[in-house]
Parts: sequence; structure tokens; C-alpha cells
Amino acid sequence: MRAAVLHGFGDLRMEDVPNPEPGPGEVVVDVACVQPSVTECMLIAGEPVAQHAHLATALGRGPVRFGGHEFCGVVAEVGPGTDGVAPGGRVTVVETVVCGRCAACRRHRPDACASPGFIGFTRPGAFAERVLVPAANVVAVPEGVSPAAAAAIQPLAGAIHAHALAAVQPGESVLVIGAGVMGLLAVRVARHGNAGAILVAGRSKAKLDLAARFGADLVLGADADVPALVAAATEGIGVDVVIETAGGAPSVGLAGAGTLDLAARCVRRGGRIVLVSVLPEGALAPLARLRERSVSLLHPRSGAGGYSPGGDAFTHALRLVARGDADVESLVTHRLKGVEEIPEAVRITADKPAHGAINPAQVYIESGARAWHC
Ligand SMILES: [Zn+2]
Repeated sequence: MRAAVLHGFGDLRMEDVPNPEPGPGEVVVDVACVQPSVTECMLIAGEPVAQHAHLATALGRGPVRFGGHEFCGVVAEVGPGTDGVAPGGRVTVVETVVCGRCAACRRHRPDACASPGFIGFTRPGAFAERVLVPAANVVAVPEGVSPAAAAAIQPLAGAIHAHALAAVQPGESVLVIGAGVMGLLAVRVARHGNAGAILVAGRSKAKLDLAARFGADLVLGADADVPALVAAATEGIGVDVVIETAGGAPSVGLAGAGTLDLAARCVRRGGRIVLVSVLPEGALAPLARLRERSVSLLHPRSGAGGYSPGGDAFTHALRLVARGDADVESLVTHRLKGVEEIPEAVRITADKPAHGAINPAQVYIESGARAWHC
């Protein structure tokens, strides 16, 4: 089969590799649609984030299969001991693979697993025609969900998880910083989850217009005095909850490391900040202000070197899409056809603002897409 192989930072090539064979507890999925994540693009470029050290070590030994944890497909083959997963099933997959044997796993704390693996990072992923995954990681995709939406479901699962982590109460005000995919879906989840006033701060006029469509009450240009506007909208109190989604490496179009400071200036005393974005090691945090105002700083499960939101969040996200409550597919701006286009999808996703992309660029793979529609 054809698959992406990384020969060095910035050097991703499509090559022939052996077809995967399912062992006990494993299934092989024909990939129908896959999209690179921004984190994967940063890692391919050699940015020092997430699994960078692991990848650098692996590249030191030779070329590595890399990429592909946001995807969907059709189960092609199953190994022994894969009850509940059958060939022909439409599926997506949770990326974190826990060991199942360490002390934390035995004590039913898989999020503290001592040696987790990550599909597409520490083991081959779906930058390929077929991918081998544990049956335990498979999430069934319900009727009425397109391959485009199923492949793009992870940020919605992440938004659901972040909303639950903040324990948003009915009527509470929520500020979402960032109007990218993650921010827009956080708005949708807040609206669906009975938040009160929903405010969004972002840089792109087009995306702020989308935020209003996704349920925001008030959109704020990031170049305005956001804390003053938030204060004005909340009787001077500040918002109950901030969901921060904009920070990260400017080299991939993200807003740098100042977004946590902005969040701290917008949240009320005793409020909560969920830091969804991945800031660099050593980024400055306004700890004195957070402490003085008794603000809770919450870190969601993140994937890509953390433990991803569980299958329940994925299943609920797919349910929202199937019901028409979250239009994930409307955010897909770039659709490419054929497995050979994976490096091009990476190139586009690595600089979404320059390409006018909202969702990462998606790649449809003929054999899997055909099986999906059978
Ligand atoms: Zn474990």
C-alpha cells in the first residue's frame, strides 16, 4: 500500500510499504478520509512541540512512518478478540493507545498510563491507504455522518471535553479566545450546553462572522481592547469561563504565548480558564494575578503527547453531527483526492491563514471512500 514516510524534518514522501496484518485485539481500517492536525504539521516542520523529542530520536535511526490520527474509514479486517468490531463498519479512532498493564491502567486510571502510544505519532497512522489500530480505540460512526465530518470530529470531541472540564453552569458567561476550528466548535458546544452570554475574540473578520453563525452573542476583534469590552458586557465582573484556543507557534499561524495573559484579564474573580492551546515550554503565565483572583487554570486532555478525550466524547460529538446540532463539515475548505496528496494537505494545513483554510485540508482515499459509500 501507499503511505507517508518522513525522511527528515520537512521531508515527507509517499512510498510503498507492506500492508498491515491484524493481530489479536487489532483491526485494519481502509482509510476513507484523513486530515493532518496542526500539531502534526508543526512536528513535521521540526518545531519543538509535543512528541518532538521522540520523533527526532526516531529520525536519527532512519525514515519513519508518521502522521494521521484524525481520520475515518471502513473496517477491512479484524484479528481474534475484537468483539463488537466487524468488517464493513464505518469508524473513527481515538488516538491514545494505553498499555493496559501498568499500575495506573490496572487501577482504571488510563489517563495516567505510564507508557501510552499515539496513533500517527509513536505508531503508524492514517497517512496511508490502510491503518492498524487496537479494536479498543475504534469508535462507530452513526448513519448520516459524512466522511468529511467523521474525519474532522476530534476538535468537536475536544470542545465537548473542555466544556465539561470547565463545568459550565446554565446561564454562565463564556469567552472563547480564538475563532479557528477549535474556537468555533467551543462556541457551538457552549450554546448547545446552555451557556449564557457567549463572547468570541478573534483576528479574522470572516471567522468572527462564522462565530456569530455558530452561536456567539458578541464577537470582538482581537486588536480591540478585549478586556474592556468583556468588562462592559459583564457589568464589570468578567466572564465566568474562558476557553483559550488561540495560543501557539506563530510559524503555523497561531497567536503566540500572550493569550493566557489576555484570558487572565477577562475572567472574573473565582472564574475558570481552560487552556486548550499548546504553549511552548517556559511560556510566561500571570500566576500572581491568577492566584490573587482565585482563578482556576484547567488543562484539558490534549492528545499528541497527552491523553486524548475518551471514546465517550467522540461518540457524543458524532451524535451532535448526526442530529444536525454541529455543522463540522461546513468548516472544511480544502478537499484533495488521492493518497498521493497527503504532503500537499500538510503544506496547506501548516499555514492555514495563507490558504484561507479553516479546517485542515482533507484527503479522500479512493478505496476507503468507495467502501464507506457501499
Ligand atoms: Zn498503562
